[in-house]
Amino acid sequence: MEREALLSGLVHPGGREPAPGSLRVVQGFVNTVDREHGPDLFDDAAGLAEWLERQMLPADVKAGDLEAAAEVREALRSLLWANNGGPHEPEAREVLEQAARRARLEPAFPPDGAELVPRSTGVDAAVGHILAAAFAAMLDGSWRRLKACPGHNCGWAFYDRSTNASATWCSMSVCGGRSKAGAYYRRRRASGA
Ligand SMILES: [Zn+2]
Repeated sequence: MEREALLSGLVHPGGREPAPGSLRVVQGFVNTVDREHGPDLFDDAAGLAEWLERQMLPADVKAGDLEAAAEVREALRSLLWANNGGPHEPEAREVLEQAARRARLEPAFPPDGAELVPRSTGVDAAVGHILAAAFAAMLDGSWRRLKACPGHNCGWAFYDRSTNASATWCSMSVCGGRSKAGAYYRRRRASGA
């Protein structure tokens, strides 16, 4: 995938609409890597800095920030797999809770609605904004529709708008089709055909 596609967050396999509202930044954060073909925007500080800038969350990237951001990204992906029928991983929740503490997320009570606000600075605070968006989505129920694709080497985050939230694949033509082909060949092998 093109680096620009990962930066813009505008590319969605299968023609899906992006996640609604502030959940979009969570989706974009998880989709900062093409796990099958590369690139990974978090391979270098410039990539993370540019992505944050594009989300209007500018921050100086310091030592350790890249690793921490990537760890939070993969922990979020783990939760999105769980939304898609995968196992619940306590380690992933622990990573997110630690990141929320580093961001010093605090409740705020403005007239237009309660929110969590990071009191930290730098990348910790930027990641805090993303975690606050995930937290809000968990409360309003939209979270369960944000899923990670279980396709081999995929893990792409997509927003499932199907009526009963039953979509599995990022795209039927990419991962869904592959999975069908895989099942077909496995059946053929099993029957000795
Ligand atoms: Zn996929």
